[in-house]
Amino acid sequence: MNQTEIKRVQRRIGVEDDGDWGPISTHGARRHLLSMMPAGRFPAMREVRSDRSVFGPHGDPGGYSPPGRRIRLPFALHLYGDPARKVLWLEPHERCADAMLCAFQRLAAAFPTAEERKAAGVLDYYGLYNPRPIRGGSVWSMHAYRIAIDLDAARNKNRSHWPVASKMPIEVMECFAKEGFLAAGAFWSRDAMHFQATAA
Ligand SMILES: [Zn+2]
Repeated sequence: MNQTEIKRVQRRIGVEDDGDWGPISTHGARRHLLSMMPAGRFPAMREVRSDRSVFGPHGDPGGYSPPGRRIRLPFALHLYGDPARKVLWLEPHERCADAMLCAFQRLAAAFPTAEERKAAGVLDYYGLYNPRPIRGGSVWSMHAYRIAIDLDAARNKNRSHWPVASKMPIEVMECFAKEGFLAAGAFWSRDAMHFQATAA
């Protein structure tokens, strides 16, 4: 984000809008989103990784798949940013399907026009279920449990700092937070494409 955009985020989260993103802003963004997340809605990531949370075990390539439930989105997404590849249905874990649908309904209301959705990055969809360990790691990705979604990966890369080097709007994070989803950009300061159904 440029300095004007960073100042907007700072005003939104209630810290000094000096346009300089530091630890106070980082903490402020987390506190802001945390205050919106329903307590106890979803387990901590550590608990999910134990395979004994409400989400059960992770999926295995060619083997077990966590139980999904199809949800019909209020607007079509573009697979990998390609408007010709429309996605109207997602299949998140059955235990977070209602919450994910509600998050998309919030996005539809917060960004009512196609132009606003495009600008916010919520049209560009980069995947949900993927039974694989995290990149370069030995633990399983939250995508392997069917409880994470990636949006606008082109402008919110895995190793890019949020918000200095990526674009995910705080308002998108708010829509997910209100339904219990952790926004990686705010809580990990990177991977801002990523939202997951875990406690912060
Ligand atoms: Zn992800």
